[in-house]
Amino acid sequence: MAQSIDIQGGGLFQIAEPEAPSKRRRKPGKAIGIDLGTTHSLVAIAPNGAEPRVLADAEGEVLLHSVVSYAGSGAGSGAGSGATTGQPVVGRAARALAVEHPEQVLSSVKRFMGRAPKDIDFSHPYRLADDAQVVRLDIAEPGQPPRYVSPVEVSARILEVLRDRAEHELDDDVAGAVITVPAYFDEAQRQATKDAGRIAGLEVFRLLAEPTAAALAYGLDRQGRGEHGEGLFAVYDLGGGTFDISILRLREGVFQVLATGGDSALGGDDFDRALAGHLLGLAQIDAPSPAQQQELMQAARAAKEALSEAEVTTVTLERCGLGPTQVSRAQLDALILPLVKRTIKASKAALTDASLAKTELDGVVLVGGSTRVPLVRALVQKAFGREPLADIDPDKVVAYGAAIQADILSGSEREGVTLLDVVPLSLGLETMGGIVEKIIPRNATIPISARQVFTNYSEKQTGMTVHVVQGERELADHCRSLARFELRGIPRLPPSMARVEITFELDADALLTVTARELMTGVKQSIEVKPTYGLSADEVDELVMDSLDHAREDFAARNLAEARVEMGRVMLALRTAIDEVGAIEGMLDPTEREQILAALVECEGVMQEADHADPINEAREQLEKRSEPFARRRMERALRSGMAGKSLAEIESALAEEDALDERRGAHAAEVIDPQ
Ligand code: ADP
Ligand code: MG
Repeated sequence: MAQSIDIQGGGLFQIAEPEAPSKRRRKPGKAIGIDLGTTHSLVAIAPNGAEPRVLADAEGEVLLHSVVSYAGSGAGSGAGSGATTGQPVVGRAARALAVEHPEQVLSSVKRFMGRAPKDIDFSHPYRLADDAQVVRLDIAEPGQPPRYVSPVEVSARILEVLRDRAEHELDDDVAGAVITVPAYFDEAQRQATKDAGRIAGLEVFRLLAEPTAAALAYGLDRQGRGEHGEGLFAVYDLGGGTFDISILRLREGVFQVLATGGDSALGGDDFDRALAGHLLGLAQIDAPSPAQQQELMQAARAAKEALSEAEVTTVTLERCGLGPTQVSRAQLDALILPLVKRTIKASKAALTDASLAKTELDGVVLVGGSTRVPLVRALVQKAFGREPLADIDPDKVVAYGAAIQADILSGSEREGVTLLDVVPLSLGLETMGGIVEKIIPRNATIPISARQVFTNYSEKQTGMTVHVVQGERELADHCRSLARFELRGIPRLPPSMARVEITFELDADALLTVTARELMTGVKQSIEVKPTYGLSADEVDELVMDSLDHAREDFAARNLAEARVEMGRVMLALRTAIDEVGAIEGMLDPTEREQILAALVECEGVMQEADHADPINEAREQLEKRSEPFARRRMERALRSGMAGKSLAEIESALAEEDALDERRGAHAAEVIDPQ
């Protein structure tokens, strides 16, 4: 099933069909879809092709507040030992404890997933362990020694509650889950989400981008234009604390994320705050107590939500001493207008990033509870010049899409969809000269596995550093470093003769396994990439935009680096040859030797001075020309000794092989980094 693609330069580059999900334990109709949201989380099912539906708790609530309270859960010590006396409380009940226990009640932990303390650039009320590679939150009661939990564990608690709901519905038989993540989540953030699923006892079939899930729920994959189903869609997702805009392209049944954008600190909570500020003014209070603040926020939120339906609503604030007061939709609109405008600006920027005009779009999808606000709908409609798709409940649409995808993966037969995600940023390796060799290109559909064979640079080389990078730039220094490991025990072989096969395997959840294998000895080393820190949506955008901004200079820098590597290879080979065979009678007379050595010195100078590829390449060609007679004599000698007693035909074919090898050397030698 492996297809083999010849990349430029005759390299070996294979894309193999990864293990199909059919190998998984299939249980049609027994898989669930989870929207693990910043504010709310939901679970939905769509068994055996049925319409998706969300599952409620015993009280009939479908939205689970993404809040976990560790208040009074015991004073276990150590890093997230979980040795607690009481179970953490999840959901509405946890939220109610927030005012009294601001540090033990954790909300919006999604913002911390897969991130390092140094990445946290937003305000939050928690104490973080600052020595750790990944964020840990201190949930100790005041005056107690620190007690840490990770965002992964906290998310697992939320997922457990949803899993319980589903088990109840599916007779304790949940085969697996699809969990959604923002489109811009990088490897670390995805890994963290997947870990949370595992801790919660779920087999995570795959992670699915939230906008893709929403598009699936609307069946946009089946509504594309033309024979092969083409389409361009914008997904506008305004939740409680975040705004995400994604531009999707549908092509042959596959959604690609063309651009993402948004604001990770803008959402319905900000609407609440704006309205609360207004109410505070009416109540004539300067410094509200925590209890008053909580009353205000709850009243503001209730009023805001009521105003999505009604033109006017009445607010009463007992603790703040405000009698029944009318608030109108027009008043709310005026308060939130600047906020909504910010989302419109970001939406337009995303369109620009995707090089699209709004008229090219085939549809706009509304996601997130805050898109119920009439002003939001009106401004989105105006900005995109069309009525957005909003007939599926915007709170549930992502969970629905996840449920549909889960149903497909569980093995149930469903009309024609096979859905794939794409890699947001290219994955590659650093090669000699700091050049990046992209192994899996950006926007490749996943799962995917790609292999490439690299060779040694010099005979002395017995190890190879595998440096895995992510990004669009040509030089490794400008990309994000994901992992680094060493392959040792490469046999000593002439340059270009050792062959190390590198495999990149990106599974359905965009998690990466990199394996290096020396083909002669079979020595092997592999690594699962779990980067210790994550990237924000903005950073992903920045990396992509960066590569466009720097395309020209990157191209020049890559050429320069390649020229240096190639020159280095030729010089090294020549020096080795002079040392080894130069002394043999008739191989190299003193004058010629002097000339070649002088040329080598000259090349050294050019290497040091040149700031672009041309002079280096010219000098290299000169060097090769000057040393050509010497090379020819070496070759003849090697052939004579190796071919003694062979027929002319055999010698000819050996020569042809040698030529082919030389060609390959040009393309490949120099692609292994010596760890010394
Ligand atoms: P997230 O994706 O961040 O988990 P949600 O999509 O659940 O968030 O959106 C939560 C936000 O939606 C909250 O700010 C909530 O007040 C708001 N919201 C929910 N229903 C309505 C409504 N009817 N009118 C206005 N806002 C609403
Ligand atoms: Mg959401």
